[in-house]
Amino acid sequence: MSLEEYQRKRDFSKTPEPEPKEKAKHENIFVVQEHHARRLHYDLRLAMDGVLKSWAIPKPPPTEQGVRRLAIQTEEHPLEYANFEGVIPEGMYGAGEVKIWDRGSYELESRKDEKIVFHLKGEKLRGRYVLLRFKKGGENAWLFFKAKEEKD
Ligand code: MN
Repeated sequence: MSLEEYQRKRDFSKTPEPEPKEKAKHENIFVVQEHHARRLHYDLRLAMDGVLKSWAIPKPPPTEQGVRRLAIQTEEHPLEYANFEGVIPEGMYGAGEVKIWDRGSYELESRKDEKIVFHLKGEKLRGRYVLLRFKKGGENAWLFFKAKEEKD
């Protein structure tokens, strides 16, 4: 649970991305950032444990049930990153434009090592969502999908 990897990958004198400040307390926010890096992807970030837990999703996040998206867990980001939009300069880690695709709050239903269930209240993403570890996909692979509203 630290932001060391986030800091190590970035030079804050050169990137407009936020430098972590002191650890903020938990807020139930989420954001999805559309990131025009070498490959376009969508970064899902959930505020948990005072940081933004992060997953990179190569395709648009599902707004309907029945679509499962691969979500690769990436380094934790500081909470301030939830407001970040801008252009990461050429040559920097993740170079390219970052735009907020969706944001809002969420309610956690359950959290285990292998599975996180939560309710998103955004503009595009609304309802009950699941992140499920996808071991066949590798160490950091998860699946992200919209689930039935009721518990199963
Ligand atoms: Mn990204």
